[in-house]
Amino acid sequence: MAYVITDSCIKDELCVDVCPTDCIHPKKDEPQFETATQLYVDPDGCIDCGACVPACTSDSTFVADELPDDNKQFLENNAAYYAKA
Ligand code: SF4
Ligand code: SF4
Repeated sequence: MAYVITDSCIKDELCVDVCPTDCIHPKKDEPQFETATQLYVDPDGCIDCGACVPACTSDSTFVADELPDDNKQFLENNAAYYAKA
């Protein structure tokens, strides 16, 4: 299980600031940040602490099991960001 970010993300890094394992990228100091349309959770680094959910003001973060039906694709989409990195 991991947490997942969806495309309502506005890249304000509020979740990055609270994530204890630094598993949310790209960050502002990384080259991919400019072109990324959202941030992504690395499923291998996420420890399911849930801290990113209350931090997010745009309701973009979900535990994988609770992703709305129309956002299920973001489970794969988040993992794919790290697969090609
Ligand atoms: S659940 Fe915790 S470890 Fe996982 S992305 Fe959110 S803040 Fe980071
Ligand atoms: S807190 Fe929410 S909107 Fe901000 S970067 Fe994280 S997922 Fe995106």
